[in-house]
Amino acid sequence: PPLRIDVVTIFPEYLEPLRAALLGRAVERGLLEVGVHDLRDWTHDVHRAVDDAPYGGGPGMVMKPQVWGEALDDVCGEHTRLVVPTPAGRPFTQQTAREYATERHLVFACGRYEGIDQRVMTDAARRMPVDEVSIGDFVLVGGEVAVLAMVEAVARLLPGVLGNPVSAEQDSFSDGLLEGPSYTRPEVWRGLAVPPVLRSGNHALIDRWRRDESLTRTFRRRPDLLERLPESSLDKHDREV
Ligand code: SAM
Repeated sequence: PPLRIDVVTIFPEYLEPLRAALLGRAVERGLLEVGVHDLRDWTHDVHRAVDDAPYGGGPGMVMKPQVWGEALDDVCGEHTRLVVPTPAGRPFTQQTAREYATERHLVFACGRYEGIDQRVMTDAARRMPVDEVSIGDFVLVGGEVAVLAMVEAVARLLPGVLGNPVSAEQDSFSDGLLEGPSYTRPEVWRGLAVPPVLRSGNHALIDRWRRDESLTRTFRRRPDLLERLPESSLDKHDREV
């Protein structure tokens, strides 16, 4: 069965892009199922309130556990992995995307304000795997944009979604390095020429050049990635670069 993704949010319209472009086509072609739910459908009061003041004081509001509890009871199932975006989470990486692409059912719970009452995650964890994840060291207003980013990263790894599966294999992070620069026609543009090696037709030379570019770029922009690379994944020539 295709991967099913459900998103619970107070701004369902924010998730409209899930129906557009590559993702929309994947849904139409049955490679992915997507459901978007309005959290307020699980409120019982006239104001449809989803937030309340924080225990212990302080600024902002916290999302109420009762509403989230009922919503997740309805949306989650036997095979669910619950994903809760939060800047206080573990980093979401390409490795996380690869893991999620093998799941059967992902439920994303979009927080707003100061986030969701922690007991919602504690309670859900009694029945299913729960991940609190961050998409980077910055603070967004709500989880919706984080969910769009994660769903896109996961969906493009699903079989059949990308026209050319090799492009996913060659992307940044797949070998632990950043991808180097790319060029297309014309050969000279605004006085800037394409690196001659790419026009040499010598594929061994081109591969070596791409690997070097990838290594230098990673060294300059993300030295932290190089440090995490196992020694065995670098050959003798790599170490000289
Ligand atoms: N009080 C929280 C804290 O300091 O950790 C910040 C809450 S933030 C203003 C509101 C919501 O935006 C969060 O509940 C989460 O859903 C989302 N969000 C903000 N930054 C995020 C990030 N870097 N990664 C994932 N989700 C994020």
